[in-house]
Amino acid sequence: MDVHLRFGMHRDVEVLHSAKELLDGMVIPAHILAYQANSTSVFVTSMHETPYVVDPMTFIFQSPKSAHLNDKGELRASVQKLCDEYHSSLGQLILKLPGSGYLSPTAFKVDELCKGTLDFQLRKVSEASNSSGAMKYLKRYGMTKVTLPRCVLPPYFRFDGHGDEWYQLSLNCANETARQASPEQEVAPVICCAISSLTTQGITSIADDYAEFDRAFVWVDNYQQTAVRSARIKSVRSLIAALNEKGLAVETLYGGFLMILSRFDGLRGISHGILYTQHKSVSTTPGSGGAPERYYIPAFREFRSLSQADLILHRNPELMCDCPVCEDTLAGNPDNFIRFSDEPARLRRHFLEVRRREADDIEGTDIKQEIGILLDTYNKYHESVRELPNPDAVVSGAQMDGLAYLKEWAEAFS
Ligand SMILES: [Zn+2]
Repeated sequence: MDVHLRFGMHRDVEVLHSAKELLDGMVIPAHILAYQANSTSVFVTSMHETPYVVDPMTFIFQSPKSAHLNDKGELRASVQKLCDEYHSSLGQLILKLPGSGYLSPTAFKVDELCKGTLDFQLRKVSEASNSSGAMKYLKRYGMTKVTLPRCVLPPYFRFDGHGDEWYQLSLNCANETARQASPEQEVAPVICCAISSLTTQGITSIADDYAEFDRAFVWVDNYQQTAVRSARIKSVRSLIAALNEKGLAVETLYGGFLMILSRFDGLRGISHGILYTQHKSVSTTPGSGGAPERYYIPAFREFRSLSQADLILHRNPELMCDCPVCEDTLAGNPDNFIRFSDEPARLRRHFLEVRRREADDIEGTDIKQEIGILLDTYNKYHESVRELPNPDAVVSGAQMDGLAYLKEWAEAFS
């Protein structure tokens, strides 16, 4: 299973440079590339052996007008930059909306939007890397060779049901981008859906509509692995399997261990941020800040706040992680956990180490074995974890009932 890191903050650059070998690729959000063009391009180019894609982020145009404005009532700078890059009249269209109005799917000129997003993805990194300011840094890294994204992503929008206007717009954009792109440039559409759209008929129709493509990214809106029930998990599994059966290489834009399990449905890759965005809701405003520091507990396949992780490891020292970072930090003693608070870079590195291991290990197991491990962990730790006060619910956005989610996963894959 491939692991692609979603780039979020420039403070993570150092960790990513040092963890290059743990990653198969990166996802660069377009609004960051547009707004901080030089520094982001320097980063992408300095990681030049790590393949990347640019996420065009067009779903943000589905947000109400108020989400795009700053305190002065102007378009926020990152939105303005994206509008300028993509579609000449888009900024004006947003500003003309009444109060908290929304753009309609018919407001977009498909050919212009596709040309703008395609051109941006192919041009921006190379253009910004060639600026004199960027060159100075790149020489320091000893890397000046600019690479193109491994594939381009057409404009996409979240849909509620197969065939609705946003679905149709996304599909039109996918086909139009394929028409505009050169034959050697792979085009990989993003299927960004409400989970309720994944009915049996909906899944069949989506797979038929995208059958001509070689690769697709799936983003199920707000798919929280600790809150989703087994019936919903089964429908996401079916979508991945249906696309896979049509010959597409399927990846996800966000995902945690639950998505890694979908290797058994043919999933090829997942992506996520360093300590956050294992799931994402379309309606979150991009750039609204990072989550608090937290620790990934490998056996739980989830994060816990530092204070809870500290408590859990003291109660159950056998849960101490044995990755190189934790062996060094903990040295076999949970009392050393406090060192993670002083050096948060270790939290990030530990997570990337564990994620790499999870993605590699899944290649060598079978689903029966995985289900057995999920149920064992649930049986051993659920009772003691569920009685902990749950400050993590705020972080995860879900009401976590101990480890009940592991049982849901096991049921969904049985
Ligand atoms: Zn570790």
